[in-house]
Amino acid sequence: MKFASLGSGSEGNALLISTRSGLTCTTVMLDCGFAVRETERRLARLQLTPADISGIVVTHEHQDHVGGVFKFARRHRVPVWLTFGTFQAVQSHCDGVDLHFCRDGECLQIGDLEMSPYTVPHDAREPVQYVADSGVAKLGVLTDAGHATPYMITALGGCDALMLECNHDRQMLRDSHYPESLKRRIGGDYGHLSNEAAAEILAAMDKSRLKRVVGAHLSLKNNTPELALAALASVIQDGIDVTTACQEEGFGWLDVAGVS
Ligand SMILES: [Zn+2]
Ligand SMILES: [Zn+2]
Repeated sequence: MKFASLGSGSEGNALLISTRSGLTCTTVMLDCGFAVRETERRLARLQLTPADISGIVVTHEHQDHVGGVFKFARRHRVPVWLTFGTFQAVQSHCDGVDLHFCRDGECLQIGDLEMSPYTVPHDAREPVQYVADSGVAKLGVLTDAGHATPYMITALGGCDALMLECNHDRQMLRDSHYPESLKRRIGGDYGHLSNEAAAEILAAMDKSRLKRVVGAHLSLKNNTPELALAALASVIQDGIDVTTACQEEGFGWLDVAGVS
């Protein structure tokens, strides 16, 4: 099982999770916040074409996550999974798309990948994040959450790899030129995870199998990769690989648990 990002941040997100068993390969796209052409261009960087995508799972209706989902899915006949709350926010864009509903706590199967949606606190209708399980390894994904909940920390326990939002440095956000209302939204209980909050989640979760952490959804204005890395590294032992995802490049294929 392996994962790669087409880009990560408030200007667009798309994560790819892929597993191979025998001759079959399953590749799930988690969110797609890029226009169709741009998504195709970014897929090509990973030697993928739209025909390689088995399905798209959606976390919530914000444009940086769904901006490209429905056009891409319609054009390339890719099925989409989303919560009913998210559907209510985007239904005018869904004509002609093969839609499937998912909900917190109920696994869904796409090819050889089992995806488990779990609820997170964020200012959207029915936001979820996902844990992907190939039967051999588990990848936890958590972005777009305003604060840590015990439920999230339990959901991520036992993952082999983790993609974890490090949206902002609290001091940089305080000092930024953003309007006060936007600062309150981002830093609020239903906004985004700071480096410090991400580190608290990482410190609290079951890390017995964890080998890799990728800091994600970094703000270009209110964070730096160095600050995010330092926060994550401060709560884990040596031997766990820590990197960050970037808006333009995302990151190339990384193995989950050292096996693909
Ligand atoms: Zn987002
Ligand atoms: Zn969001």
